[in-house]
Amino acid sequence: MTDQDKRYDLPQSHLPRAWYNIQHDLPRPLPPVLHPGTHQPIGPDDLAPLFPMALIMQEVSQEQYIEIPEEVREIYKLWRPTPLIRARRLEQVLDTPAHIYYKYEGVSPSGSHKLNTATPQAYYNQQEGVYGLTTETGAGQWGTALSIACDMFGLACEVYMVKVSYQQKPYRRSIMQTFGANVYASPSDRTNSGRAILAKNPDSSGSLGIAISEAVEAAATSGGKYKYALGSVLNHVLMHQTVIGLEAIEQMEMAGEFPDIIVGCTGGGSNFAGIALPFVANNLRQGKRTHIIAVEPAACPSLTKGVYAYDFGDTAGLAPMVKMYTLGKDYVPPPFHAGGLRYHGMASIVCELYDQGLIDARAVSQLETFKAGVQFARAEGIVPAPEPTHAIATVIQEALKCKESGEKKTILFNLCGHGHFDMAAYDAYLSGRLEDFEYPAEAVEKAMAALPVV
Ligand SMILES: *Cc1c(COP(=O)(O)O)cnc(C)c1O
Repeated sequence: MTDQDKRYDLPQSHLPRAWYNIQHDLPRPLPPVLHPGTHQPIGPDDLAPLFPMALIMQEVSQEQYIEIPEEVREIYKLWRPTPLIRARRLEQVLDTPAHIYYKYEGVSPSGSHKLNTATPQAYYNQQEGVYGLTTETGAGQWGTALSIACDMFGLACEVYMVKVSYQQKPYRRSIMQTFGANVYASPSDRTNSGRAILAKNPDSSGSLGIAISEAVEAAATSGGKYKYALGSVLNHVLMHQTVIGLEAIEQMEMAGEFPDIIVGCTGGGSNFAGIALPFVANNLRQGKRTHIIAVEPAACPSLTKGVYAYDFGDTAGLAPMVKMYTLGKDYVPPPFHAGGLRYHGMASIVCELYDQGLIDARAVSQLETFKAGVQFARAEGIVPAPEPTHAIATVIQEALKCKESGEKKTILFNLCGHGHFDMAAYDAYLSGRLEDFEYPAEAVEKAMAALPVV
């Protein structure tokens, strides 16, 4: 077993020149996004206080490809194209005839895929003369990526960080501060949304939904000085991530294979979409039959247990209403949930693909995910971020099925980040402090009563 290729690298000249926009190819268009106050479809003007016009236009664009600005490509070149790696050692450990490949986004300066969208978002805001960006962050990966991107384009950055992460992950705050960002624990007393939550529950540990409300409010009330940036969920964010899948198609060709199965973890849906959408296009346009699987935590099962309905994107109900698979905007994850992927809803694009039967979804419980993460680390030498361990657990399940059936399937997954900043989560797992938690069906039913009526 010597002289086997393990890594497929593209030269910088093969960095994609355009993002792929799946809206052009969707069999059924996306449901309209509604204004939270009027419940009417929103137009560009409604979004203008929050986003620069270039991103608003990308959000609704039906163009199949959108050119990546030269300034953005120059920054992408710091870490892109990212490697495609064949996990031969994991294959051996599993004793499977399956071929397992992963696209490794952990090589980016922020350690995850998030810089793929933070960079163009900061760029377009700078082009339109915005002073700074506000945002929320949960585990800290998005806040870190946006801090780096803002600093590169000379923008200020204000981050509302979910309080429990702020307290448990102080070094994440330090990274953001290294790049000049101002970081606040959310709920904070800086916004009406934050103060309202604190009045009801002074010990609130926060949630992504609350932090989004605060960041949106801070931008909307800044008189145009600040705009808001979101790290997932939105159409333009998912589109920016398609560089992952576009590169992977070329790299799989280098390897002389084509994936039968693609797996990605889903929080808001962006890293999954990044690897999957160019392959969904191949399924739609070229009659390929890649089985595409989105994997979420059993503790936050938006796709597999949520309801496909209009809901607010944030807890205070300030953000637009989107039709999505949702657990309800008041969803708060169990405190011992360590695997990330905590958003109550899901990207509209991912929901439509799921609803139209173009992708599959599964939920995995957290002990299985960390077990898979450790197994992967010990085979391949990379400690994965807790989020992609959901994908890895599913890849292992599929590879073991191949072992049973003797099928030699080719499996590709997105290793969207490394876990070096999340060792507290591994520590909790390794010392036996994590438990499985299945989100109860009654909680979903109860939350459905609070959905907006449209
Ligand atoms: C933010 C993040 C996620 C979850 O967000 P998606 O939009 O679903 O990709 C997953 N993995 C990593 C490493 C992240 O930083």
